[in-house]
Amino acid sequence: MSESTTMQTTSAEEIKETWLTTRLESVVNWGRKNSLWPLPFGTACCAIEFMSLMTSRYDFSRFGAEAMRFSPRQSDMMLVLGTITNKQAAVIRKIFAQMADPKWVVCVGACASTGGIYRTYATVQGIDRIIPVDIYVPGCPPRPEAIIKGVVELQEQMMQETFRSREGNLRAFYRSLERQQTLENTGMTAQKAIQQMFREAADAGQSRIW
Ligand code: SF4
Repeated sequence: MSESTTMQTTSAEEIKETWLTTRLESVVNWGRKNSLWPLPFGTACCAIEFMSLMTSRYDFSRFGAEAMRFSPRQSDMMLVLGTITNKQAAVIRKIFAQMADPKWVVCVGACASTGGIYRTYATVQGIDRIIPVDIYVPGCPPRPEAIIKGVVELQEQMMQETFRSREGNLRAFYRSLERQQTLENTGMTAQKAIQQMFREAADAGQSRIW
C-alpha cells in the first residue's frame, strides 16, 4: 500500500471517530445561552445586588453574560431590578420592544415580581402584567448567587426552546403595543393608555395587558 493511500485511510478513520449529529436548534440555543448580553433595568436596591454580581467576586463572565449594555438594541436579556411604578410601565415596555429578538426577561426580586411591599396604586404589581417574563428570582433582595441561579435556570430553559416556542408571547406583546399606540393616537399619554388597557384587561378578567 502506498504512503498516500495509508494517509487517506487514516484521515477517513479520524473523521469517522469524530463524527457527531445534533439538531440545529441545539447548536443555536447553545450559542445563545453562552453569549447573553444583559441590559439592567435597575430602579432600586435589587440593582445594588446586580452591581455586586458584575464584580470580580461573583464573576458573571463565567456564565457568558458579562457584556452589559445600556442600549436595548445591543442586548438580549433584560434584568428588571427593583420597584416599577406605573409611570415607568410605558418606558419598560418601549425598551423591551426595542430589544432585538430573541430576547429574554429575568425578573429580579419581590418588587419587580409582585410589587413587593408596595401595595399601592402607584406601583406595578408584577412586571409580568406589562411584559412577558421568562424567569423570576425571589428575595428581597436576592443575593447575587440567587441572580446567578436564575440566569443558569434561564440558560437551561433556553436549551429546551424551539425557534418558535416563544413566538406566542412576543406576538401578544406586540399586539398590546399596537393597542397602546391606538389609544395614544386619540390623545392619551402612554401612562393613561396603559391604565386604560389595565381597565380593559380587568373587564376581561385578566391582570395582564399583553
Ligand atoms: S425586592 Fe427588596 S431589595 Fe429589591 S427593590 Fe424591592 S425592596 Fe429593594
